[in-house]
Amino acid sequence: MLIQLQPGLAPAAKAAIISRIEGLKYKVTEVKTQRAHYLVGIGKADIDLRAVGQLPGVQDIHRVSDEYKLVSRKWRVRPTVLDLGDGVRIGEGDFTIVAGPCSIESEAQMNTVLDHLTENNVRLMRGGVFKPRSSPYSFRGMGMEGLRLFHQLARARGVKIVTEVMQVSQVEEMHDYVDVFQVGARNTQNFNLLDALGGVDKPVLIKRGISGTVEELLSSAEYVFSGGNEKLALCERGIRTFETASRNTLDLNAVPILKEKTHLPVLVDPSHGIGIRDYVPDMALAAVLAGADGILYETHEQPEKAASDGAQTLNFEESGRLIRNLRRVYELRQTLE
Ligand code: PEP
Ligand code: MN
Repeated sequence: MLIQLQPGLAPAAKAAIISRIEGLKYKVTEVKTQRAHYLVGIGKADIDLRAVGQLPGVQDIHRVSDEYKLVSRKWRVRPTVLDLGDGVRIGEGDFTIVAGPCSIESEAQMNTVLDHLTENNVRLMRGGVFKPRSSPYSFRGMGMEGLRLFHQLARARGVKIVTEVMQVSQVEEMHDYVDVFQVGARNTQNFNLLDALGGVDKPVLIKRGISGTVEELLSSAEYVFSGGNEKLALCERGIRTFETASRNTLDLNAVPILKEKTHLPVLVDPSHGIGIRDYVPDMALAAVLAGADGILYETHEQPEKAASDGAQTLNFEESGRLIRNLRRVYELRQTLE
């Protein structure tokens, strides 16, 4: 069961609620986020929720049988919308485009991408400064120096930054320079990192693990939420299957399933999802029709010269066309019966 407590509840009233739940043989975990105060009760007994619901100090109570609870739509029916400021939002009611290179490489590279994005009225730029690479000999990113420059250049254009954090020690140093922390597919179940991100007041975009299930993705989000941070979005980026014709298998099934199971925004990354430049736009458009709240993809002035993931990166002409088509398909989606 999930309980939201009334704000500013006296400790004695809270203790009375906890002892009543424990009396029903439920284990209680207290969750305090930047927004509200909850009690998560885990147990098997079939109970009458009214016994707890009528206690003084209980604002709301629900039965949520899933492993994940706070991120469940059974608990919060209304979709979560992340407000990044300056009119930039992620979630239902807006269609979000996040575009940019796989890796931040240089000032000149960032400027060309920022020109391209602002010309197309895209307000969110992606780009990794800490890169998880399968080989230790591949380019591993410009680090904090690159991030500070990224922040400075993007701010000057009114563009927000989405970038990957790879480990706990980076959370604090990156904090003031990012608008959205990205948790990469290799870190979806890095529970220490998820705990640390529970303590920040910035949005977190969690990518689906390479071999992760939908339920595992939701449980990872539950980690961050129960750690105190409700500002979350999810991203389907393809999973590893027996198929070798594409880099990953973009699981568009996950989109309607996630939209039904959680109130969090759902984005799709077709670049890593299929891994082949020519097919990225079609998969992006398909993701919009599947119900995605936004698309995150890779673009670079000269993909063949990109420091990483060039084979799945769109040039600016392809990217511009995709942006126009994404907006048209999103509008079309809204008119469908
Ligand atoms: C990326 O966004 O560049 C990236 C490394 O993604 P993923 O974690 O999904 O592989
Ligand atoms: Mn990449």
